[in-house]
Amino acid sequence: MIDILPQATTKYSLDYYATDPIFSTPVAELRNKAKSIVASLRGRTIWMVNSTASGGGVAEMLPSLIALMNNLGIRFRWAVIRSDRQEFFSFTKRIHNLIHGDTASGTELGAEDARLYEAVNFENVASFKKELKPEDILIVHDPQPLPLGQILSREMGITAVWRCHIGLDRHMEATKTAWRFLKPYLDEYRHTIFSAPEYIPDYCADRSTIICPAIDPLSHKNQELSVTKLTGILCNSGLQTQYEPIVTPNFKHRVAMLTENGSYVVPNSLGLLFRPIVLQVSRWDRLKGWNSLLEGFVRLKSSAFVSNNENKIQRKKKRLELARLILAGPDPGAVADDPEGMDVLRQIQQRYAALDPKLRNDVAIVFLPMKSHKENSLIVNAMQRCASIIVQNSLQEGFGLTVTEAMWKRKAVLGTTACGIRRQIRDGIDGVLISDPENPAEIADKLGLLLNNSLRRYKMGRNGQRRVYDYYLIFRQMSGYINLLEKLI
Ligand code: UDP
Repeated sequence: MIDILPQATTKYSLDYYATDPIFSTPVAELRNKAKSIVASLRGRTIWMVNSTASGGGVAEMLPSLIALMNNLGIRFRWAVIRSDRQEFFSFTKRIHNLIHGDTASGTELGAEDARLYEAVNFENVASFKKELKPEDILIVHDPQPLPLGQILSREMGITAVWRCHIGLDRHMEATKTAWRFLKPYLDEYRHTIFSAPEYIPDYCADRSTIICPAIDPLSHKNQELSVTKLTGILCNSGLQTQYEPIVTPNFKHRVAMLTENGSYVVPNSLGLLFRPIVLQVSRWDRLKGWNSLLEGFVRLKSSAFVSNNENKIQRKKKRLELARLILAGPDPGAVADDPEGMDVLRQIQQRYAALDPKLRNDVAIVFLPMKSHKENSLIVNAMQRCASIIVQNSLQEGFGLTVTEAMWKRKAVLGTTACGIRRQIRDGIDGVLISDPENPAEIADKLGLLLNNSLRRYKMGRNGQRRVYDYYLIFRQMSGYINLLEKLI
């Protein structure tokens, strides 16, 4: 039942990273640190277990992390639990929302839910057990596979660690309900990992570690792109009309754009190479603040249209007039089994269709193909590099890898004060923070400020990249795991 994924590989080995002058020091430090435990871990496998091989932050990080850990000499593997029971994912989404203090999908977690939770995890245990040795270590990600670690730790005495990627910096009835429900499963876990101290429930306080998520700077999502390569990606994916012959063939799966009547077309001319672009790339999740971002942008543009203030510098006016908002997320085919995602998408579509036609032309709702991880990553990379401002208007955010990716690309980022984002962005230094992501007026103001000040955008982008270099590159995350493994053995 459980999927054991083929051994992950990266385009480059750790040796390659080490030869890059920018990464040589962090890699050398990492190797030094790993020396002491490589021998003691020989013969043991560290299993990463989660519930999806693609989409979202966890699936984004695991391939590079696993491949580079193996490169270091520590055997890591990846297993993904499976279930064809739709109600299981609706229920785990409810836990996810409650941990974020959001009660839109329900406020209760009861005995019936627990039965479903355990049954699905039990179904995955049998096939997984055949792969495991008692001395292996499980690192179980997020709530979906949590009971699996409990069962295996009971049945085989295996060491289980829970890695939680979500959380809220406040406690309220909703969060308490979720943590109460999860407690019995967590009791069997030896240790827990969180992204911020604020997220740790009381009963885990004496067995938890903070490890920040991180990005791989040489992955398809984050590697530098030459102008030719970037243009090639835009043309190959359907984001830009091709005026000249190019070396690479079209991607197997093309980008689609929503039209006013609800159908999709290949965009071809989004203006990514020409216009000031304001971009948000995320899953179609209510907590990503899509609607208010769209309203904020509409407000910003409306102010530009009515402006006939002669004192305004022409260039600024033009910039505002040409600015285009791109809301990009997974192709609806990839979200079809996520009723909440479809609902969010419908709401955005309705608002888009109701926009004044002139304004509608300045907004694009774009669907990214998810079938090829490489193509998807290259498309996101190219789009992020074309943006003047990258927004992450999340109502709640455990961490927010999209923010890290944008900072690494030296972009001005407009984030929110959601805990995961404000831990990354120092307001006014590495980006700008919106205090109320549901207030279009504030969003419009801050977008306008950033758009009209290219020097400020440049400085923030530079600071942002430095901050990612210091705290959020994969080497630091690997080092966090090594510290923890040392403790466990
Ligand atoms: N992402 C992507 N394609 C999409 C939407 C998102 O590749 O259509 C990626 C995005 O670049 C980031 C990850 O998915 O790497 C989302 O991680 P984040 O921590 O921002 O949010 P999560 O989805 O985990 O809540």
